[in-house]
Amino acid sequence: MHYVGRFAPSPSGPLHFGSLIAALGSYFQAKSCHGIWLVRIEDIDPPREIPGAASLILKTLEAYGLHWDKSVVYQSQRTEAYQTQIDHWLKEGTAYYCECTRKAIKNAGGYYPGTCRNKKLENNGQRAVRLKMSEPVISFTDRKHGQLTIPTKLANEDFIIKRRDGLFAYNLAVVLDDIDQGITEIVRGADLIEPTGRQISLYKILGQSPVSYVHLPLALDNHGNKLSKQNHAPAIDITHPKPALLDAMIFLGFEIMEDIKTAPVDEIIAWGVKNWQLSQLPGTLKVTPRFSNAFV
Ligand code: GLU
Repeated sequence: MHYVGRFAPSPSGPLHFGSLIAALGSYFQAKSCHGIWLVRIEDIDPPREIPGAASLILKTLEAYGLHWDKSVVYQSQRTEAYQTQIDHWLKEGTAYYCECTRKAIKNAGGYYPGTCRNKKLENNGQRAVRLKMSEPVISFTDRKHGQLTIPTKLANEDFIIKRRDGLFAYNLAVVLDDIDQGITEIVRGADLIEPTGRQISLYKILGQSPVSYVHLPLALDNHGNKLSKQNHAPAIDITHPKPALLDAMIFLGFEIMEDIKTAPVDEIIAWGVKNWQLSQLPGTLKVTPRFSNAFV
């Protein structure tokens, strides 16, 4: 089977050190397996998007020597496919409309207890769509970390596939796209371990063969918080990529010789592809980076 990997950023801001880790890890893994590496812009949540972020992300990837194969896929162009699948499940009775508020679910203990499962509610433009969970996944094997478990209550929840505001849910879009793009392995940050259970459930419900997973350690800031757009992680430098590139590669477990450090970006990336192996990754799921190359 030919390897197809991907990087799937949301355009909610410029790339930061944490997203660079995911981009590099997925790239090195795909290219060292002689595979292709695709980029998908996950732009289906307009309230969280920043104008211009998608094109800035693509330019930044290029500046870091990360060149994608095939055209970039935009989730905003794929909504018909998501709706077709939802309509099919609604018709079949595999999905249903739900009128429960967040507060009601919180009062019920935090997990959705299936209140609307058999109510046969109609669409009134204000209801979420939930999927009946017939294939709960409580653990899966990660190629780096071995068996990872998902909280049972979470795994059994009838989760939302279309939100009450009409936006498509991340888990549904990601799985339909990964299938459509023929992705064979998903390499991404450890913050996405919990959704992986739901995503494997979706593969099963859709009768699709599973893919493999590698979760990369999360980069933490000095306060122990995840580096993220929500936490205002600084954008990585697009004009001088080398300091952040080298720091991200050190974070990913590379031991970089002095002569590589002085090489041009494309050569550093090619060296990374040649030397990459999963065993070099830190064994823990959270790591505070040591910024040795003046990247702040
Ligand atoms: N779009 C998601 C994010 O930026 C990543 C999705 C994925 O890799 O599955 O966090």
